[in-house]
Amino acid sequence: MKYVSTRGKAPVLSFDDALLAGLASDGGLYVPETWPRLTRPEMRALSGLSYTEVAARVMSPFVGAAIGEDDFTRMVVDAYRGFDHPAVAPLTQLGRNQWLLELFHGPTLSFKDYALQLVGRLFDHVLARRGERIALICATSGDTGSAAIEACRDRACLDIFVLHPKGRVSDVQRRQMTTVASSNVHNIAVEGTFDDCQDLAKGMFNDRAFRDRFRLSAVNSINWARIMAQVAYYVVAAVALGAPGRRFTFAVPTGNFGNVYAAYAARRMGLPVNGFVIGSNVNDVLTRYFATGEMRVTPVHPTLSPSMDIQVSSNFERLLFDYYGRDGARLGPVMERFRKNGQAAFGKNRWRRMARLFSGFSVDDEATKMAIRVIHRQTGQLLDPHSAIAVTAGIGRHDYKTSTLVSVATAHPAKFPQAVEDATGIRPPLPAHLADLHERPERFETLPNDLGVVQDFVTQRLAGGTAS
Ligand SMILES: *Cc1c(COP(=O)(O)O)cnc(C)c1O
Repeated sequence: MKYVSTRGKAPVLSFDDALLAGLASDGGLYVPETWPRLTRPEMRALSGLSYTEVAARVMSPFVGAAIGEDDFTRMVVDAYRGFDHPAVAPLTQLGRNQWLLELFHGPTLSFKDYALQLVGRLFDHVLARRGERIALICATSGDTGSAAIEACRDRACLDIFVLHPKGRVSDVQRRQMTTVASSNVHNIAVEGTFDDCQDLAKGMFNDRAFRDRFRLSAVNSINWARIMAQVAYYVVAAVALGAPGRRFTFAVPTGNFGNVYAAYAARRMGLPVNGFVIGSNVNDVLTRYFATGEMRVTPVHPTLSPSMDIQVSSNFERLLFDYYGRDGARLGPVMERFRKNGQAAFGKNRWRRMARLFSGFSVDDEATKMAIRVIHRQTGQLLDPHSAIAVTAGIGRHDYKTSTLVSVATAHPAKFPQAVEDATGIRPPLPAHLADLHERPERFETLPNDLGVVQDFVTQRLAGGTAS
């Protein structure tokens, strides 16, 4: 499989080169040149297989010949070995024709582990084979950072720099990042928002000399390999519930649009999906877009669901690529204008076609707490704020007669204990392996929202104090 940029001007790459590159050199995102197909007989043959068996089959066309089949299968098995549920991504029934897909059974308790545990291994494998070393840059709104650190800590061929917005991630989220005492892990608290962190990361990539000097790469959801790994659990869930003989609606709590885009990719491969519901908090740029056809970026407000406190959803560009006829030369200038102006319409007809498949539903903090309380009372299930938004959004938009609703739980309730306790009176305990998290010493650097200062810090850490 070859990978092309959504802006059409970057070189076409193999899977391993796209993995290491992260962002494309023209500012676009890498996507597969064609969508592989999963036929109905192939889907039926997945029934009864384990998570890792299904995942390996779903992902193998995306990897192609870039990594040997035995090596790849070994990495997939190894990536999910440490998860604390034998099904890896178990389903819980919430009501008639309504299910919850639990994606919080990895080491850092969010769905980000499902992609990053594999991606860390892929990076190490490819770099070791080439005898190379790189520095990963990661902007996080809370959960990516810890999942990336856990996937990269102590790996021989990697350094990892994680930028989080100071004071805008939960205590548990911060401590999961800052208490890892590995010399290849560097935490930066940025005095700004997640979008500022993301802009700083992009700024470092766009500085060509800097990027090449330190061999920068990204593990943000702009990295194609993460999307690929996430396609797997949508197929696993749908097959377990009766695909291809049943149709589905997926409700996904959405920030950067990576997770719901993976569900869309599963549909492109052939999964029978009627539609996607995008759950958002008051930072609802996508919900407003699908409702009105106008995308307008507004300032970010902190909420109980900080991993969705985002106004610019990077992976939306990947969806647009398909709706612009997979023509990067046409999409490139549109994206550049959008990034400059903070608003765009992307064409009325195009919007109508997208809005047939995608709808949004926005849930504010009060309604989120209410949802946590009601769902707990009705089903016994404790949900974190992000997951509660997904369930609420799903119920708000789903047609029970025509499809089965699968809402995605993206974080363990113990990651956001205060919101859960406020809503239910129950403080969810951390799993045993994190029980002493609040006693571990923290290590991080606080830096202003200033590209030059952040670059100096990275230089110092990688070049041993020879900052220029
Ligand atoms: C990252 C994250 C999201 C948003 O996912 P995207 O792929 O960025 O849309 C939602 N919920 C939780 C708990 C997250 O960590």
